[in-house]
Amino acid sequence: MAQKILVVEDEMSIQTLLQFNLEQAGYEVVTADDGAEALEKVELDKPNCIILDLMLPEMDGLEVCKELRSRHIFTPVLMLTAKDDEFDKVLGLELGADDYMTKPFSPREVVARVKAILRRIKQLEGMKSSTTEEGERIQVGELDVYPNNYEAYFQGELMEVTPKEFELLVYLVRHKGRVLTREQLLSAVWNYDFVGDTRIVDVHVSHLREKIEQNTRKPEYIKTIRGLGYKLEGPST
Ligand code: CA
Repeated sequence: MAQKILVVEDEMSIQTLLQFNLEQAGYEVVTADDGAEALEKVELDKPNCIILDLMLPEMDGLEVCKELRSRHIFTPVLMLTAKDDEFDKVLGLELGADDYMTKPFSPREVVARVKAILRRIKQLEGMKSSTTEEGERIQVGELDVYPNNYEAYFQGELMEVTPKEFELLVYLVRHKGRVLTREQLLSAVWNYDFVGDTRIVDVHVSHLREKIEQNTRKPEYIKTIRGLGYKLEGPST
């Protein structure tokens, strides 16, 4: 069955261009012209990935993203932003977008990015369905991560994380006690050259901290190693 992509864009020329290219690549495409329609289509069509334009009439891409996450919908979101809109990019990631692309982009580039997102989701899901038993379990302090089941628990409670947050968490716990640079995390978790924009790592780390740290200013699990990067370890007793 073809994977379904929801394209949310009010500019018809771009919407059509993306639809055409994604269909050429074998995807089923659903479109929405504004945020409200996007939210309806997400519930109705259950897309595998959402391409979400930031600049939309009325409800903008950031609000859509925020609304999705507040409804506990963790479909990966590729956000389209205007050129040099640094503030919005970071905010978009903070509100739960998995990735972003800057306009103008080549449709081929967008298709490649969607493919990369879906491939990683599929890998995760493949691992999940192929394991009948519990599989690998990594425990750090009160954190329990089951990479194969695509589940993480903190203090016994299932954590709600986006696919990227989960991948980052798995990478961190697998390398616990080791200092990892932002560049290292970027290439390991995001898998492609991000032209040195390592803030995406910082944003995802801060999301994880909100979920597992008592005091995000004095993190006990994910420590900042000044000038180097991050290190995950168990809280000292
Ligand atoms: Ca637009």
